[in-house]
Amino acid sequence: MKLASIQAAESKLLLHTYDRNPYLFVGGHGVYLTDDQGNDYLDLLSGIGVSALGYGHPAIEEAIRLQSGRLLHTSNLFFHDGTAEIALRLTEISGLDRVFFCNSGTEAWEAALKLARANAGRLRSQGKRCGTKFLALEHSFHGRTMGSIATTHKAKYREPFEPVMPGVDFVRFNDVTHLREQFTDEICAICIEPVQGEGGIHPVSQAFFSAARELCDSSGALLIADEIQSGLGRTGEWFAYQHYGIQPDVTTIAKPIANGIPMGAMLCTNEAAMSVTPGMHGTTFGGGPLACAVAIAVIDAIRHDCLLKHVGEVGSYFKEQLTALAERHPSIVAVRGLGLMLGVELNSSELATTVASQMMSERIILNRTSENVLRFLPPYILERKHIDIAIDSLDRTLASLTQPNISTAGEYTHG
Ligand SMILES: *Cc1c(COP(=O)(O)O)cnc(C)c1O
Repeated sequence: MKLASIQAAESKLLLHTYDRNPYLFVGGHGVYLTDDQGNDYLDLLSGIGVSALGYGHPAIEEAIRLQSGRLLHTSNLFFHDGTAEIALRLTEISGLDRVFFCNSGTEAWEAALKLARANAGRLRSQGKRCGTKFLALEHSFHGRTMGSIATTHKAKYREPFEPVMPGVDFVRFNDVTHLREQFTDEICAICIEPVQGEGGIHPVSQAFFSAARELCDSSGALLIADEIQSGLGRTGEWFAYQHYGIQPDVTTIAKPIANGIPMGAMLCTNEAAMSVTPGMHGTTFGGGPLACAVAIAVIDAIRHDCLLKHVGEVGSYFKEQLTALAERHPSIVAVRGLGLMLGVELNSSELATTVASQMMSERIILNRTSENVLRFLPPYILERKHIDIAIDSLDRTLASLTQPNISTAGEYTHG
């Protein structure tokens, strides 16, 4: 009843940017979300990779409670005691030197694009050749603001808003030859999601990532790793680039950084940071006391609970189980991903839509991306028993949708 009236009101009052699923969540605990009827849902999506520590985590609740009683905002004109503490943690885990805080993924990405342009200007002032163009990858996703959509490949995100920022060329995914052909001294940065998220959970190849690093080293252009979805432990390392042994010049993070309190950050080397002076870039809310306090609690909880190791272990188990499922179901074309960032490509987008909605009616939350890919971004605290529940449900769902004439006992049904 309440859901129906909210739906009716939203349909009149909101800009229609989302077709929401008809569920109303009012709470959660651990890896479960709870709806208005008191039903629990196993959450394998964590609000698109945000609620990494799940729901009702005591350290997060405590950080919010304490900080909300102290101070919520000071502006960036003054100091508060959280900024340096979270920046220290982020530089330790990333291998980068400096941090710019903001409030979302796309803002972190905009900061990275602006830094690349400023860095190119710095190089030119030293007499080096460095242009203003970007190389991005096919099937990339970097956010929804104007610079971000210019570097995002899918036409439907860009075309209605054209003209977007000019000077972006797209390189075929994992095509080293194409990358080398496109790279000139006109390029100020190469933009890479080490594991493409919205594009369908595609890890970049070692050869491609290494070639991008080498090309940037040759010219002074920046290698920018977008880790907004893959970063901060999601793949079993703090950053997905660490699986490759490649250090980017710039990285962007957001989704899980404050477990649901909006926050983003752009991290860079000392050298790239030399191109920015006070007043060139800024934000009213970015790096505020509440977001910093919660982000500190998130990083400390991941460390304290050894969640990187845990994500690696349950992630491998999940992937093994999905691979075994693929052997039983020819409708599964591929299983991809790292850690707890996993994708199952099906042979049709209709099937992917139906599977996702049928799983939802079995109270298991997952999501479809890139048309025909089922995406799993569960909380890091997921356990094997939850994976077993999900696999069992997926197995039955796929069987019922793709083998309508065969019962689960393997007997033919008639009529
Ligand atoms: C989600 C995402 C973004 C955009 O983040 P917002 O917080 O929605 O602006 C950018 N890049 C990647 C890789 C993402 O997954």
